[in-house]
Amino acid sequence: MSEREPGFGTQDVHGASTDPPANRPVSLPVYHAAGWSFADLAQVDAIYEDAIAGAIYGPDGSPNLLALESLIARLEGAQTCIATPGGMAAFAAFFFSLLRPGDRIVAAQALYGNTTWFLDHMAQFGVTTEHVDTNDLKAVEDALSRGARIVVLETISNPLLRVADIPALAALTRGRDALLLVDNTIASPYHCRPLALGADCVLESATKFLGGHHDLVLGALCGAEKLLAPVRRLALRLALAPGAFDAWLTVRSIASLEVRMQRSAANALALAGWLEQHPKVRRVHYPGLASHPDHAIARRVLERGFGSVVSFEFDGGAAAFDALLSKLRRIALVLSFGGVQTTLSHPAKSSHRALTPERRAALGIHDGFVRMSVGIEDLADLQADLAEGLRAL
Ligand SMILES: *Cc1c(COP(=O)(O)O)cnc(C)c1O
Repeated sequence: MSEREPGFGTQDVHGASTDPPANRPVSLPVYHAAGWSFADLAQVDAIYEDAIAGAIYGPDGSPNLLALESLIARLEGAQTCIATPGGMAAFAAFFFSLLRPGDRIVAAQALYGNTTWFLDHMAQFGVTTEHVDTNDLKAVEDALSRGARIVVLETISNPLLRVADIPALAALTRGRDALLLVDNTIASPYHCRPLALGADCVLESATKFLGGHHDLVLGALCGAEKLLAPVRRLALRLALAPGAFDAWLTVRSIASLEVRMQRSAANALALAGWLEQHPKVRRVHYPGLASHPDHAIARRVLERGFGSVVSFEFDGGAAAFDALLSKLRRIALVLSFGGVQTTLSHPAKSSHRALTPERRAALGIHDGFVRMSVGIEDLADLQADLAEGLRAL
């Protein structure tokens, strides 16, 4: 009996071949698959029991996700990595799986705005946070003596670019059985590997330097398999995984991480030195400058340079900022950072907008405070653009 030709409704579902070609592509294809098929129940058992590598459902086991996670784990020197749909999703997975009502967090005073918001939000689950100046080791020690499950801080803080003494802080947390979670977004694994310095877990917002092009939102957590096992369980059950295309795009971007970071950090160092000499600039914040309060720490904690973010201050407030911006031809006002293009942000109007003016003033953030994410353009063009902008002040 000749086989019946499948109907249209069957053809449109099953007509596309899913067979891979006989030879290998140079880059991993994007696997847009949310479901996976099994040859038999023995294969189901083997994949569930990790006897063979395979995917079960949704993002779990997606080749693009696994490729990304193994790549980031390698760069961070970590046993394992969990990629998430954003840096904030990484915080959510970590806190919701490891914290219990009554637990206390000790956090840096200067944190990314959404991180501070989320720590406040955890209060409704009975988790409280004490903020301390994490550059004051005595203050951290005092806070730890009142008990803490997790200490949260950033390798390089935003926008003052203070550098955390991770080895000293890790020694304190280890002595108190607290976990040290380091948000390494501004440094990226190119400039700092917090796990090698004693941190228990490192978080990256790959939206910034790892992604590098302002075209994706993605996060990652790295650390020991044992610590992160419950975090992975929660992330899998709550589908806190990036889509295949974003994972693919991030792998593609990370291929150029070193050359991007080398170039942008060299540009940043040169611009920071030049801005420091500029008569219209009141103050420059950059860990690579001898004038930075944490320059000595930065030389110990950071590798291969001092990062690509430079903050600077001038007189004249918001009107002066707009005057500067209006003269810039290539440098745009973008409220993120880490791209190949040089961008400015205005912390008082964006990342630190929710704070009271008094709190901002205490941190030293005013309307003439600019954070610049330096890109990979020609240094001479960036300097010319800034010179023109500063002339308007
Ligand atoms: C952007 C950012 C985050 C949040 O990451 P998303 O990818 O936007 O969710 C966390 N920490 C720092 C330091 C950031 O800059």
